[in-house]
Amino acid sequence: MTQQAHKGGSMKRTRKLAVVVLIALVAGLVLASPADAWNSHGACTKIIISDQDWLKAYDSITVTPWTYADVDTAAVGPNFVLQYIEGVPGTVTSAAAILTNYADEPDWKMDQDLSLSPFQTLTGGSQGWRHQYYGLGWLRFGVAPARAQYFFDLAGKAKEKGDLYWTFRYLARAMHYVQDTTQPYHGVPAPAGLIFKGIGSFSTLMGSAVNHHYNLEEYQGAMIARSSPVLVNALKAAVPLDVTTATSPSWLCRNGAYLGRPLVRTLWPLENKFFGDSLNSKDSWFFDETGLHVADPGSDQAAYDQELSVPLGRMSSNTKTLLLLARQHFGL
Ligand SMILES: [Zn+2]
Repeated sequence: MTQQAHKGGSMKRTRKLAVVVLIALVAGLVLASPADAWNSHGACTKIIISDQDWLKAYDSITVTPWTYADVDTAAVGPNFVLQYIEGVPGTVTSAAAILTNYADEPDWKMDQDLSLSPFQTLTGGSQGWRHQYYGLGWLRFGVAPARAQYFFDLAGKAKEKGDLYWTFRYLARAMHYVQDTTQPYHGVPAPAGLIFKGIGSFSTLMGSAVNHHYNLEEYQGAMIARSSPVLVNALKAAVPLDVTTATSPSWLCRNGAYLGRPLVRTLWPLENKFFGDSLNSKDSWFFDETGLHVADPGSDQAAYDQELSVPLGRMSSNTKTLLLLARQHFGL
């Protein structure tokens, strides 16, 4: 290698590193508040599993107390309270109810206020660290894939004990992280190119990233609640991946984040069009939900729905794949 080429290469690396650091800085500020990812995992899960007929064989499961202190040793947020939604141990429930009711459980302070990594501030704290998988240049921030795997393995241990309640409850938790990693803004905070183009000051870019992130989630939840045909169909029509390739929950998370990252580049301008200029402000801004209705054909909203249905379909596809893996591994 000539000295010139060597110099060029190292300059390129320095520049790339600067980008990464800058984005990471944005990321840290962007996710200063806890990251929930998709709005309401439960409501989406209910739609996703509506075609899972095999679950009907598990329509009578007795709630059991948590007895996994010996194997479930990962740190839990100091303010996390273990809830029994369907009733105290002894109550009868179903696999579908457990999956739906506990799909959001990892967002219930389970992962908050913990000290997990010196880099967790880059993802907005311990919850962000556990629920995301940022890819910035060659760097990765967050442990969502490991969390999905952790709970999947615990589901297997519960099944070995013949404890169906905790099999499905641990599976619901694993599912949460698999679903989280399909939300494109959980793979990367903003289109990297924007930092160079400059859409205003640094604080404007930062505020814009926050607004894009949270308005997407708010909108998606609101449209599922309004039974948007495009979004509901995306959840319903998705098919599982081939489990000879998608071999583990960890793989599902890594692949979901990988495929979601480029979508940020197309979602961002569509959000500018649909939500309007207020989105790109340094201040927190939320769209007005009053009067929000199913998109008219040919509208900016319809175009946004079409693009949003891609990662939403992946959320469903990866969830169905996870269930397939659970059946295969645990003999469900
Ligand atoms: Zn989450």
